[in-house]
Amino acid sequence: MNSVETQLSKVIQGEIHTENQFRKFYSVDASSYQVIPKIIVIPKNEKDVINTIKIARKFKTSVTVRGAGTGLVGSALNRGIILDMKNFDSIKIKKNYAIVGPGVIKGALDRVLEKNKKFFPPNPSIGAFCSIGGMLGNNSSGSRSLKYGSIIDNVIEVTIIDGNGNKIILPKDKNFSNKIQKKIKINSKKIPNVSKSSSGYRIDKILSKNDSHKIIIGSEGTLGIVTSAKLKIKNIPKKRILFVIEYNSIKNAIKDCIFVNNTNPSAIEFVDKITLQQINHKFQRNTKCLLFVEYDEKINQNDKKMKSLISGKIVKKLTKKQDVEQWWKYRDSSLFYSLKNIKKENRIPHVIEDAAVPIERLTELFSILEKISKKFKTKSIVYGHIGNGNLHVRLIGERKKPSLIKNIATYYFDEIIKIGGTITAEHGDGLARSEFIKKQYGKTNYQTFQEIKKLFDPKNILNTGKIISEKSTIIKNFEKL
Ligand SMILES: Cc1cc2nc3c(=O)[nH]c(=O)nc-3n(C[C@H](O)[C@H](O)[C@H](O)COP(=O)(O)OP(=O)(O)OC[C@H]3O[C@@H](n4cnc5c(N)ncnc54)[C@H](O)[C@@H]3O)c2cc1C
Repeated sequence: MNSVETQLSKVIQGEIHTENQFRKFYSVDASSYQVIPKIIVIPKNEKDVINTIKIARKFKTSVTVRGAGTGLVGSALNRGIILDMKNFDSIKIKKNYAIVGPGVIKGALDRVLEKNKKFFPPNPSIGAFCSIGGMLGNNSSGSRSLKYGSIIDNVIEVTIIDGNGNKIILPKDKNFSNKIQKKIKINSKKIPNVSKSSSGYRIDKILSKNDSHKIIIGSEGTLGIVTSAKLKIKNIPKKRILFVIEYNSIKNAIKDCIFVNNTNPSAIEFVDKITLQQINHKFQRNTKCLLFVEYDEKINQNDKKMKSLISGKIVKKLTKKQDVEQWWKYRDSSLFYSLKNIKKENRIPHVIEDAAVPIERLTELFSILEKISKKFKTKSIVYGHIGNGNLHVRLIGERKKPSLIKNIATYYFDEIIKIGGTITAEHGDGLARSEFIKKQYGKTNYQTFQEIKKLFDPKNILNTGKIISEKSTIIKNFEKL
């Protein structure tokens, strides 16, 4: 028998699995989708990754790399081969950077860094559980990305295996970096006008050939499998101050957010009524939402200034590490609180959960959501990284109506694009949004994306169907609705 599995079993030093329980395990992630793969390879080393890709090329089978499977839009799900990179778990800490394998779990990196009084700034709310590979794949960020940027701003170098099975180090490989730069034709009018985005390939970040590694960040494993990454690390701030501010009007919270954003905070986060009702504190009865504002420098100065900057009421001013961490836990649990509050049959799968708009247009984002409520008879729960204009939305409505979900998404994304926003700020495109990328970026930029894909993966085997997509996948493959 000359099957993919037979060929793989001749050369792979790691594990190969085709048992049903493995295929089922790797068929889901934290999204609402399910796609059953054929084979799971757990490579032991780089040679295994190269051999898997070469065999997959021969058999025209897709290869999709997976981290911890906490992605929210099915980016790591596919048919064909799934590569689980958990054995790539080495961590080396230097003065201002760390060299890590993609299988390193964020919590493990945090613990090692803390011992060295360092931290890696991007901090997804899922906290300790995601992997570095998945963070690179999605261009993840978090609350502190407001000050420190997303992953794309915090990576120095990546080593990848491309769709031909070649090892490439970017931006070190000058020849390949030149090739990337030559492919880039950009229509800047169609680039989202936001401080962070995980939609499409981030061609707007490649200002010179020294930025060539940034094309990999957010590419969802469609251009190469990252086998190692050199990450920027920072000294842990000596002190933090966290203000929790209550508002009886969302409009006032937005106004304050815009003022506070000019004062270099390390985070400005938003939660609506659903989250605040879960917090062990007595807020005023008419409180509609909270802002969490954190500074990690000039603590006294910012403390003195805060009251005069805002119209909301400060209900907590926290400086003790434990208290700050406890209150961040409330914010980070927003997704959990929102799910807890919606009956399963009314949970619309998350497909519009991650847009961002220029912050001066946040009021319009809330009006769009109100229009959606009226037009499609839904309700929404909102929380997120408001300082970046990035709000996470959970929709409550009729779950078992996939056509409704597609109509809502089409309407929402059209409106978001019109006001200069991105359809995804940090969760990526995956199965939910890949088909909307052309609309987001327009023809010229999309053609550049296609050229880039061809350069890295001419046979289209890497995470086939994501980012560059011919078919609509938004309402296909939902796990039992
Ligand atoms: C409760 C909850 C809260 C969340 N909060 C946030 C948040 O605040 N901010 C945020 O940004 N995200 C958030 N997320 C989304 C998600 O957790 C992150 O995007 C996370 O970084 C994904 O990591 P992972 O290891 O689970 O990746 P996976 O889901 O396994 O994979 C994600 C993508 O990365 C690709 N990938 C994986 N490994 C590699 C590799 N070695 N080389 C190339 N590509 C690779 C995959 O193919 C896939 O396309 C949240 C998710 C949940 C469930």
